[in-house]
Amino acid sequence: MDERFLEQASEAAEAERDSAQRAISRTLTTPGQPYCDDCGELIANDRRIANPAAIRCITCQNVFELLKKGYAR
Ligand SMILES: [Zn+2]
Repeated sequence: MDERFLEQASEAAEAERDSAQRAISRTLTTPGQPYCDDCGELIANDRRIANPAAIRCITCQNVFELLKKGYAR
């Protein structure tokens, strides 16, 4: 392994850590609840910004609305 490779690898690791930290802080500061009531998965930040009252992820919300309309049973 040459030095340049190590340098690039550590820069990449640092950038990845930064973006992970930003993602976490976005998750914590975005309005609305972070986890879906139905499946427990994270609700996309975009969805929470668009609809802070959302309690389900998009997938579960679609299923919920289909059930509500009586299309799927
Ligand atoms: Zn869900």
